[in-house]
Amino acid sequence: MTKPLILISKCLGFDNCRYNGDTIKSEIVEKLKKHCSFSTVCPEVEIGLSVPRNPIRLEKREKEEVLIQPKSGLILSEKMFKFAQKFLDSANEPDGIILKGRSPSCGIKDVKFYSARGIEIDRKHSGVFASFVLKKYAGYPIEDEGRLLDERIREHFLTKLFAFTRFREAKESTSVRSLLKFHETNKLLFMAYNQKEMRILGNMLGNQKKFTKEELFSTYFESMKRIMERPITKGNEENVLLHAFGYVSKKMKKKEIEYFLSTLNDFRENKTFATVPIALMKSQIERFEVEYLKSQTYFRRHPENL
Ligand code: SF4
Repeated sequence: MTKPLILISKCLGFDNCRYNGDTIKSEIVEKLKKHCSFSTVCPEVEIGLSVPRNPIRLEKREKEEVLIQPKSGLILSEKMFKFAQKFLDSANEPDGIILKGRSPSCGIKDVKFYSARGIEIDRKHSGVFASFVLKKYAGYPIEDEGRLLDERIREHFLTKLFAFTRFREAKESTSVRSLLKFHETNKLLFMAYNQKEMRILGNMLGNQKKFTKEELFSTYFESMKRIMERPITKGNEENVLLHAFGYVSKKMKKKEIEYFLSTLNDFRENKTFATVPIALMKSQIERFEVEYLKSQTYFRRHPENL
């Protein structure tokens, strides 16, 4: 499979470019290195700041928000706007994005915002570079390294990242047949995310003759972004597993059925993770060679060691 392309803050293990000359090691980024390609960027260095450098921050000046280096008094907003625009206009389109949290340049939504006197007003701002990224890539998998420590957020990010990459692969082949195959193999995954939107997507493909090829791919992608907007809910996860269970239950032994259902119950009651009933179902699918289910990305959302 094509490797996902991730746009990433350079200080997340790729360079010692932080204001203090440090780098940040993120376990998930290190693991991703084996499976993904990266496009790295350090916006602060790109606008000409040195390493090490005096820290910069977001401040409210009159009615404006500015990116400022308090020690030198340098206002860097304009430079950063120009860089972000130019960089994003020329960079390859990524499948997902990981930015460094809490940075006035890269932070997605946890950046401190100060008054001109240096008093903290808010800590839920977006960094200047990140604001451009969020606008251009709305609906894409975008996270910071801190939020990726949360299992549910990480699982959603990885599932989306690899689904977006598979879609890009289908799109690059430019054949409608690849799109139909993509849809077929992602059915259960999309069902787990959002059944209603998934049906709309299916209807769209049923009426594919109404669209040009370009329209078909772009409308499909917009719909896919809506489907995968939020993480899979527990209820939807359970519904899809029961749906898959319907394919194999008649061939399973009584004790195996009881064990699977009790594991599903444990998952419902937060006593175990979804990965446990999913792994059990996977083994039954392999055992009974259910080809339709074997092809479903729901059961292989991303490389296992992630
Ligand atoms: S957070 Fe962004 S701007 Fe700051 S060092 Fe890292 S890559 Fe550079």
